[in-house]
Parts: sequence; structure tokens; C-alpha cells
Amino acid sequence: QADLALFMAKSTGKENYEFFSPELLDSSIRKQEITAALQQALVNGEFSVHYQPQVELLSGRVIGFEALLRWNSALGAVPPAEFIPVAEECGAIHPIGEWVLREACRQLDAWRREGRPDIHVSVNVSAKQFLDPEFAEKVARVLNETNVPAGCVEIEITESVMIDLDTAAGLVEELQEIGVKLAIDDFGTGYSSLNAVKNIQIDTLKIDKSLVDEVLGSDRSMAILATIIELGKNLGAEVVVEGLETIEQVTLMRQYEVIGQGYYFSRPLPADKAARVWDKYLEQPNGLFHAPVLY
Ligand code: C2E
Ligand code: MG
Ligand code: MG
Ligand code: MG
Repeated sequence: QADLALFMAKSTGKENYEFFSPELLDSSIRKQEITAALQQALVNGEFSVHYQPQVELLSGRVIGFEALLRWNSALGAVPPAEFIPVAEECGAIHPIGEWVLREACRQLDAWRREGRPDIHVSVNVSAKQFLDPEFAEKVARVLNETNVPAGCVEIEITESVMIDLDTAAGLVEELQEIGVKLAIDDFGTGYSSLNAVKNIQIDTLKIDKSLVDEVLGSDRSMAILATIIELGKNLGAEVVVEGLETIEQVTLMRQYEVIGQGYYFSRPLPADKAARVWDKYLEQPNGLFHAPVLY
């Protein structure tokens, strides 16, 4: 064990040693590679945005799409769960996040010009971006450039933004003045779920997949999920249930009159393919309960 490990003394602390395993060393090299590759990714055009439909379960209507960032880098395809934290750490998240917002709004404008029904686009925003004092200004600028009504854009943040509630409340207010919608993403996974929604008016509560995964086999899980759905509705928010994968889950959730999102309806897809899925739902709204669209 010991010969597999490297000891490294930090120059700062007196007895401040850290224990590095080869795995940690690997991961720190990987992180450096990602950090370096991220610096070139925007100018090289390595990013794209995929879109996943959000479906009103009772009507089968597509009411919006979530924009999800994809990175096809020199290192291969790197998932957002791996590169977003690195981008946050090195600051690259600011230009990248602004690019995603602009790209999603540009796409929504293109869909609107095609005469498609009014929907919204939801854009994930990391805490670092959201807490940037210039964030609201950037949002306003992008809306202006792309011609998209503010009410058609939803910003998805997580509970982690609410750690400093006073700061968060001020920033939320700026966004509300602009008129964009606000969603709390991954609701129910953090330590302060109730705190996050107590003081701040939100438009949408997105319930995390982990809370949905076990409902079919567990009455207790179902009780918790039903209660959170009711909480969202009592707060005047739309409720989106994430990660629906099976017809059984969709059928069960339909009774709760929520919006569903998940592989059952469609994986996140490039805009042209997402539009084709959308067309199927437009042709046959309730077709979703007979045959999922598989791509
Ligand atoms: P999220 O915002 O909670 O997005 C939902 C994630 O669940 C997406 O993963 C989506 O592909 C996946 N998903 C959707 N339906 C299903 C399902 O039925 N089953 C399963 N197993 N997964 C499903 P993805 O695209 O890999 O993104 C992961 C996370 O990375 C996102 O979680 C979000 O937190 C972050 N992210 C993605 N794009 C952006 C972005 O543009 N900016 C920022 N700041 N974060 C982003
Ligand atoms: Mg999200
Ligand atoms: Mg989520
Ligand atoms: Mg998530």
C-alpha cells in the first residue's frame, strides 16, 4: 500500500501533508488536460447543445426543451458531469455558459420563426455563473440579441445557489425584473431543499430522478414524491419530474398532473432531431402512451 503512494508536502503548512494515491494523481492529470482543452474549446467550435423535451403528461403536449451542453473535444466526448466542475474551477464556465444561453435562445428563435408552437427553453446555470454580479445583464443582452421573449427562457439553478440567501434573493429579483423564469433543478437532493424555496419565488420545481427511481417498488418513496409534488404546487410552481424512463413511471406520474422529462419521451438530441420528435407529439399528442419515440 505504502509503496504505491506518494507523499507530498505542501509548502504552506508546517505538518500539512497530503496523501496522494496513483488514482488521485491520474485524476489530477485528467483535470489538467480538461482545463487545457477547455481554453480552446469555444474557438474550435467543439461545443453543441442537445435538447430534451418536457411533456405535459395529461395532454401529451411538449411545453419546453431543456438545453444540455455537449463537448466533443480532442480528448473525445467528455460528459458535462465531468467538465462542468472543472470549467467552474478555472473560470471557463463564464464564456461557455453565455455561449449555451445564446445558442439555446438562437435555436428557440429559429423554431419560433418556423411557426412552431410557443414553448420555453430551459438553460442550466451553475452557481458560479449565477452569483456573477453581471449575470442578469448578460441574460438581458442575449435576449436582446436573439429576439426571444424573456418569458420563454427558464434558468435552472440548484439549491447550492441558495447558501447565501440574501445574495441569491437579490440576484433572483434582477432576473424576475427581466422576466425570465426560474427553476430549481435536482430538487430534493441537497441539504437545504426547503430553505431554497421558502424565501424565493420560483416558477418551476424539478424533482430529481433519484426520488422517482424507487417509487414503483416503495410506498414510502411514493409518499415522499407525492408530498414534494404537492409542495411545488402549493408554492404556485410548475412541477417537472425528471428521469422518467418507463411507461409504468409515466402512467403513475400522469395521475399527479405534472410535467415529465426523461428517456421515455426522448433522450437529449441535436436540434433537428429534437424537432422531429416534437413533430410526432404534435401529430399525436397522446401517442406517448402507446409507443415511445426511440432514437
Ligand atoms: P441536469 O440539469 O439535472 O440534467 C438532466 C440530466 O439527466 C442530463 O444529463 C440528461 O441527459 C439526463 N437524463 C434525462 N433523462 C434521463 C433519464 O430518463 N434517465 C437518465 N439516466 N438520465 C436522464 P447530462 O446531459 O449528462 O447533464 C448532466 C448535468 O450536467 C446536468 O444535470 C446539469 O447539471 C449539467 N449541465 C448540462 N449542461 C449544462 C450547461 O449548459 N451548463 C451547466 N452549468 N450545467 C450543465
Ligand atoms: Mg437541468
Ligand atoms: Mg436535474
Ligand atoms: Mg443533475
